[in-house]
Amino acid sequence: MRRSKKRRSKHSYCAFCRTPRIIYTKRHISTGDAGLCFVSAILFGVIIWQDFDPRMIVLFAIGLGLSELFVIFRWRLSIVCPHCSFDPVLYKRAPESAAKRVKRYLEIRREDPLKALSTPLRLPILIKRPSSESTSARGRDSHHTGATR
Ligand SMILES: [Zn+2]
Repeated sequence: MRRSKKRRSKHSYCAFCRTPRIIYTKRHISTGDAGLCFVSAILFGVIIWQDFDPRMIVLFAIGLGLSELFVIFRWRLSIVCPHCSFDPVLYKRAPESAAKRVKRYLEIRREDPLKALSTPLRLPILIKRPSSESTSARGRDSHHTGATR
């Protein structure tokens, strides 16, 4: 008997606010999940049609699709930091929109009295270099994000 020791989730730290959190590492369904889908398709098929029916294959395919969607969505949602809403996947694709999203979230967080009691975020402190007066818009953006602490 071979048992998979691969864990579905792991402890990690947010790349932006450094708050410890859990992220799902599983991004696709495994053969075990597919097997489970197969068994449930047969079970549901027998319950519905009282016998083996070719429509069980359709049921199996729908089950597979739904489980795959669920695993992908769970992974995608767990990637976003629940404390500062930093999204590493979005950051890779469009850093500006990721920064905008975090900024908006931190503004909402600042005005929420319930969030004032939660653990403070350890946001990165940006030191402004004197020679970088004419930096790009991205540099100014990140400086502003640091200031919203
Ligand atoms: Zn964070």
